[in-house]
Amino acid sequence: MGNETTAPTNFIRQAIEQDIAAGKNDGRVVTRFPPEPNGYLHIGHAKSICLNFGIARDYDGICNLRFDDTNPHKENVEFVRSIQEDVRWLGFSWGDRVFYASDYFEQLYGFAVELIEKGLAYVCDLSAEETRTYRGTLTEPGKESPFRQRSVEENLDLFRRMRAGEFPDGAKVLRAKIDMASPNMNMRDPTLYRIRHGVVHHQTGAEWCIYPMYDFTHPISDALEGVTHSLCTLEFEDHRPLYNWVLDNINAPCHPQQIEFSRLNLQYTVMSKRKLTQLVDEGHVEGWDDPRMPTIAGMRRRGYTPASIRDFIDRIGVSKSENTVEMTLLENCVRDDLNVNALRRMAVLHPLKVVIENYPEDQVEEVEAANHPQDPSQGTRRIPFCREIYIDAEDFREEAPKKFKRLVTGGEVRLRNAYVIRCDEVIKDPQGEIVELRCSYDAATLNANPEGRKVKGVIHWVSARHGIEAEVRLYDRLFGVPSPDSAAAKEGRDYKEFLNPDSLRTLTGCVLEPTLADEEVGALYQFEREGYFSRDATVNAAARPIWNRTVTLRDSWAKIEQQGG
Ligand code: ATP
Ligand code: MG
Repeated sequence: MGNETTAPTNFIRQAIEQDIAAGKNDGRVVTRFPPEPNGYLHIGHAKSICLNFGIARDYDGICNLRFDDTNPHKENVEFVRSIQEDVRWLGFSWGDRVFYASDYFEQLYGFAVELIEKGLAYVCDLSAEETRTYRGTLTEPGKESPFRQRSVEENLDLFRRMRAGEFPDGAKVLRAKIDMASPNMNMRDPTLYRIRHGVVHHQTGAEWCIYPMYDFTHPISDALEGVTHSLCTLEFEDHRPLYNWVLDNINAPCHPQQIEFSRLNLQYTVMSKRKLTQLVDEGHVEGWDDPRMPTIAGMRRRGYTPASIRDFIDRIGVSKSENTVEMTLLENCVRDDLNVNALRRMAVLHPLKVVIENYPEDQVEEVEAANHPQDPSQGTRRIPFCREIYIDAEDFREEAPKKFKRLVTGGEVRLRNAYVIRCDEVIKDPQGEIVELRCSYDAATLNANPEGRKVKGVIHWVSARHGIEAEVRLYDRLFGVPSPDSAAAKEGRDYKEFLNPDSLRTLTGCVLEPTLADEEVGALYQFEREGYFSRDATVNAAARPIWNRTVTLRDSWAKIEQQGG
C-alpha cells in the first residue's frame, strides 16, 4: 500500500479498508473480473478491470479472472482468447487463477438440488408468455404459479429429468420459491435454470442441456472462489437481494459482499456489447479491433497505450452517480503519455514536390534531427536531404495573410532540422493545380539564423528520393453526436443513423522519412506537426505500410464545440 502505483481512493476502497481494519474475512481481499465471453472488452470493462485488479494489487489481495459463461449460444473461444489478451495488455495478471462459471456446473446443480430439498425451488411448466403475465408489474403483485406447490419428490424427479434431456426447450424451468408479491421484481420466483438443447458450449461441449441463470450462478461462483468483495455495476443493485438470498439459503462456503458502482459511459460512442456486435456484424467498422471502436483491441491498434488507459480510469474515479465522460479526457490522457514517450519523426501527408534549384543535383547530405526536442537523452538521428523534397501542400499558399507563418510565393520558411528555403516559382498543371514549387536554399542556414532577416515559420519535409510511401488513416469520432443512444431515443431513430460518415479518412500517397522503413507493428511516433501515429499490422493493396493516427496534437473538437459548430 502507498506505493506510487496505488490508485486514487474511492468509496469502495474505503469500505475495503474498513473491512480490513475490522478483521472481516481475516483481513483478506479477494476480487474477480467476470466477463461474459460474448464480445471483445471495451473501455467500460477497463474500469472494472482496473478497479478489481487494482484493489487486489494495493491490498495484498488476489483477483480472479472468471468467464461468466452460462449463455453458450452467444459465446465463443475467440472472445475468451481476446479477453485474456486485453487484460494482460492492460498490465494485469491473474496468475493461474483463470476460472469459468462452467467449471462449477456440477456444483451449481448440487446447490439447486439443495434448494429443492429445502422447499425453496420448484419446477415450473408455465410458458414464457404465461410467466410474464403471472409476474405482475411494478404496481401490481404477481400471481403464484400453479406448479408452485409441487412436492419436493416431484421437483427432484423433474429436475433430474430436465438434466437428462427428457423435455424440450422452454417446456420447464427451475424457479426459486421466494415471494410473488415482493416489490422487487427480481424476487418474484426468479428462474434459476432453463433448458437449452443443441448448443455446443465452448468449455463443456454437449454435456449439459440445462443452463443456470446469471443471478444463481454469480453469487455461488463468487462464494466458491472465496471472493470477499463482489464489485459490479449499478444495474445489479436490484439484484443484490437475490444474490444474498441464494447465498443465505444454501450451504455456501462464504458470503461475499456485493458492492455496486456506476458504469463508464463515454461520449461519441456506444458501449453495449449488443450494439458493438451489430457494428461489427453489419460491417459499419472493420472488426472488433477497428481503431474507431471503443474496444481495448481497437484502442491498442490505434496506438493508445495501457498506461494512458489506466491513467484515464484513475482520473474518472469510481462513484455511484451515472455520468458520461468526455472523449476529450481520454484523448488528453493519450496525448500526455505520448508527448513524453513518443519519439519524433517527419512525415508528409499531402505531398507537394519542391525542387531546390541551387542545390547540387547529385548531392545528398545527412542532417541531424533530435528524437525528442524536450528530452536530449533520446539522442538524434540522421536523415537525408537533397535537391528534391516533399513538403505538405497545406504549408504553401500562393498568397496569404501575414499571420500565415509557412511558405508563400516569394517568401521564406525554415525546413525543420535543415535549411531556410525561398519559393521562387509555382508550377501548375493545365487545370491550374499546383504540382511543384521551384525554390532556392540559403546554404548558411543549417542550424543557423539567416543573415539580416528573420524567418519565423518552420515546416516539416521528407526527401523525395529517399522517402517511403505509406498509407495514413485519419480517424475521427465514430459517432457525430455526443450521445448516440439518447439522440436515437429522443428522435425515435436508430443509433446507427448517427454514425459519423467521416470517421475514417484514408490518405494513400503519404511520404515518411526513411528511418521509418522497418518499424514493427505497434511502433508509435509523433509525426511532427501532424499528431501521433502507430504502425498497423496490415499493409494496403499496393503493399504499402499503413499508419494509424492515434490522436491529433491538440484537441480540435474542443474549439469546434466552443464555437457551437
Ligand atoms: P453489456 O451490458 O454491454 O453486455 P456486460 O456488463 O454484460 O456488458 P460483462 O462481460 O458481463 O459485460 O462485463 C464484465 C464486467 O465488466 C461486469 O462486472 C460489468 O459490470 C463490468 N462492466 C461492463 N460494462 C461496464 C462499464 N461500461 N463500466 C464499468 N464496468 C463495466
Ligand atoms: Mg453482464
